[in-house]
Amino acid sequence: MPDHNDSNDLPDSLREGHMRFLQNDYANNRELYAHLADGQSPKVMWIGCADSRVPAERILGAELGDLFLLRNVANIVPPLAADEASVGSALHFAVDQLKVSHVVICGHSDCGGMKALLQLGKVPMDRMLSSWVEYAIPALEDCEVQSLEGVAKANVISQSEHLLEYPCVKDAVAEGRLAIHACYYEIGIGRLEQYDAVSKTWNYMV
Ligand SMILES: [Zn+2]
Repeated sequence: MPDHNDSNDLPDSLREGHMRFLQNDYANNRELYAHLADGQSPKVMWIGCADSRVPAERILGAELGDLFLLRNVANIVPPLAADEASVGSALHFAVDQLKVSHVVICGHSDCGGMKALLQLGKVPMDRMLSSWVEYAIPALEDCEVQSLEGVAKANVISQSEHLLEYPCVKDAVAEGRLAIHACYYEIGIGRLEQYDAVSKTWNYMV
C-alpha cells in the first residue's frame, strides 16, 4: 500500500478554492465568522436533494447561518413509522431546538432519485437506493402525468405530508410556529416554483 494522505488527494481546484475562501470571503467577514462561532439561529430548514446542482444558499441568496440544511437523495422524508433517525433527528433539532419558522422541502428537475423511482422494479438497482426511493412511491400514484417533472413535484407534496406525521412538526404547525413550503427548482433556468395547496397549482416564487 502506498502512503496515503487524504488532503493530498483533493483536486487542486478545491485546495485553491479554499485558499481563495480564506483570502477573500473569510478575510472580509471575520466578524460574521466570529459571531457564527458562538452558535446558530437559522429561521429556515431546507430539505433538498443531494444533487450538486441545487445549492440552497446560492439559489436563495442566503448568508451563512441562515439555512439549516438536510440533503439526501430525492429530498425524502420517510414516514414516521419508518423510524429513520437521520431525517427524524434533523427535524427534531431544527424544530424543537433551533425553533425554525419555516421548512422548505425542494425537489428539482433532472433528479436522479426520481429517475430511479420511475425505474423501480424495471431495471436492476442498488439495494440501498431502491429501498430509499421506495419512500417516494406515493408520488407515482399521486402524479397526473408520470413525467420526471410531474413525479418530482408530486414527490415534494408527498414528502411534505410525511413531515406532518412527525410530532414536533405537527405540533409546531398546529400552534402556528412553523410553515411548510413545497418547492421545485428548475436547474436550467435557475427558478424556484412554489406549490399553492389551496389552488393546487405551482407558481414561480418570484
Ligand atoms: Zn435529485
